[in-house]
Amino acid sequence: MVSDQFSTGPSPLDPPETDPEPREECGVFGVWAPGEEVAKLTYYGLYALQHRGQEAAGISVSDGNQIVVFKDLGLVSQVFDEQVLVSLRGHVAVGHCRYSTTGSTTWENAQPTFKTTATGSGLALGHNGNLVNTAELRDKAAELGLPTNGATTDSDLLTGLLAAAAADKGIEQAAMELLPGVRGAYCLVFSDESTLYAARDPHGVRPLVLGRLERGWVVASETAALDIVGASFVREVEPGELIAIDADGLRSSRFANPEPKGCVFEYVYLARPDTTIAGRSVHATRVEIGRKLAAEAPVEADLVIPVPESGTPAAIGYAQASGIPYGSGLVKNAYVGRTFIQPSQTIRQLGIRLKLNPLRDVIRGKRLVVVDDSIVRGNTQRALVRMLREAGAVEVHVRIASPPVRWPCFYGIDFASRAELIANGLDLDGIRRSIGSDSLGYVSLEALVQASEQPRTRLCSACFDGDYPIPLPDDARIGKHLLEGLEKGVAGDAAPVVAAGYGASDALSRP
Ligand code: SF4
Repeated sequence: MVSDQFSTGPSPLDPPETDPEPREECGVFGVWAPGEEVAKLTYYGLYALQHRGQEAAGISVSDGNQIVVFKDLGLVSQVFDEQVLVSLRGHVAVGHCRYSTTGSTTWENAQPTFKTTATGSGLALGHNGNLVNTAELRDKAAELGLPTNGATTDSDLLTGLLAAAAADKGIEQAAMELLPGVRGAYCLVFSDESTLYAARDPHGVRPLVLGRLERGWVVASETAALDIVGASFVREVEPGELIAIDADGLRSSRFANPEPKGCVFEYVYLARPDTTIAGRSVHATRVEIGRKLAAEAPVEADLVIPVPESGTPAAIGYAQASGIPYGSGLVKNAYVGRTFIQPSQTIRQLGIRLKLNPLRDVIRGKRLVVVDDSIVRGNTQRALVRMLREAGAVEVHVRIASPPVRWPCFYGIDFASRAELIANGLDLDGIRRSIGSDSLGYVSLEALVQASEQPRTRLCSACFDGDYPIPLPDDARIGKHLLEGLEKGVAGDAAPVVAAGYGASDALSRP
């Protein structure tokens, strides 16, 4: 998918004819490693996780005495430079790259979030996922009179509650008691001045893995982030597990019984292809999905082309199984849309060409199979089919490496609302006519599950079948902007005004 659907607002470069730029959820990374440059390790870890969140990035580092947080809006490479990273000294770090699934894109909502406990120690936290009992947690925070300092995220609420509970029992015990009452999807990486913690919700909706460095430990959203810092994969953080790492070693505790429901969409689109989830390679899964797609939705054609890059492995699989030659017919402008510069009207009118450029010599005169990972609203595919026809394709057959998306996700992916989902209101032929292709085929949910090699019972597939494994509250108590406008009511104190930059356990100021 190129320009899509997992967003609530257009970026400056989202042309009207396509769906908003892809921004998935969040990436978390943590490291405990005395003697290592932990800020730089975290920077590279976040770099490998950049696809999981491009709105904001942050790193907290502690030297055993004080936690310093640096965060800002933008890509990891835009937020951090050598000077900042060198200034972040210590042996414990927490990193986060954000796409907002609760709360707006503001500096206050960037992570790691930071709170101080009543005893004066600090707590920095990064969260991937989305909670479903945020309203309940908000009520609890209001009862306790906890300040929000302008933040409007479930992650900030959770940090505040954890810091409040840690006052008399310490963070580890506080987490063991608080987390069983936190519902939804959460992979948490957090630290105080000396200890790194990681926790995963009992359903293990989002991935979280543990890695080993020669002189320490790493936790990360994806195995690809372990690879980039040279950490060896140890194991997944188990659903319902809390891990603590400090000078005494690694401690593992269970705060809830595991009931695994891993997100099947991680295999389709969200995770990097070079990541392994639950022992299964994401790339191999995608190739296998393509093979099954070819069996379930065959067509006579001259060339199979992917919508780069998430459609590429499935297109390879489709070509292998169908015997139709594979080729590159579209070139992606990889970083367009990652800029904050407003485009001119002329640039905006280029539409999908801002993001994809057709290779006319390859396409002209061909019957094409175009393989994409998913259709959510359908705007992108409509523009794509039109562009391929203008480039000379004689037939365009669209094949989708996931079933129709009919339901929104409440566990960390910001799909369109149900009313905006094209498959919610139209049948297969209605969708085909809407996007203007000669034919359209989706892979079945059964085939997708088989390709992931996970038992059906251990997967969440709610966006395809509406079967939500974690019960949802009623509509009034859920939603991305639930906490917006309420923060003043919860806050007991005034928020310091900081445009960007550092936050520390005793100060919030520019360097
Ligand atoms: S609803 Fe879909 S995207 Fe959300 S966690 Fe479940 S499978 Fe993943």
